[in-house]
Amino acid sequence: MIDELLKLLALIITPDWGALIVLLPLFIAPLVLLWFFATGGGWSLVALTKRRAQLTYADATPTPPQRDAEGRPLYPAGRPYDARAAALYPVGATRSITGEPLLLACPGCSAVRLAEMTSCSACGMEIRVRPRVQIERPAGPPPGGAARA
Ligand SMILES: [Zn+2]
Repeated sequence: MIDELLKLLALIITPDWGALIVLLPLFIAPLVLLWFFATGGGWSLVALTKRRAQLTYADATPTPPQRDAEGRPLYPAGRPYDARAAALYPVGATRSITGEPLLLACPGCSAVRLAEMTSCSACGMEIRVRPRVQIERPAGPPPGGAARA
């Protein structure tokens, strides 16, 4: 009885370190997996619940141009326009609402060319304009909070 107790105590006090070291990956692997699942789940929650800005393209509707004293339309340089419909389009537009190519007067030399072209064939000025994007922010904080209390 005492011998068995001593053997059990010896097993606890002086364990077989070689066998325990071999088993070490079995203790560490679940901890690593748990860490991966916890951080992956946490970041997935952050990605799903994150508030984002809403992007909408700027209003692409044409506007009527200013006219001179004789009633002729004035097209400012650098703004695409449709001469047939006498309409000014926002910067970056290359096609009219009906799908026809827009014209653009070069801001450098006032030569008229297609708005699709990125460089002026007369003076070589390069114009690369990306379409404008408006960022809509919420008007106020989400409902609830102090107003609900
Ligand atoms: Zn030019």
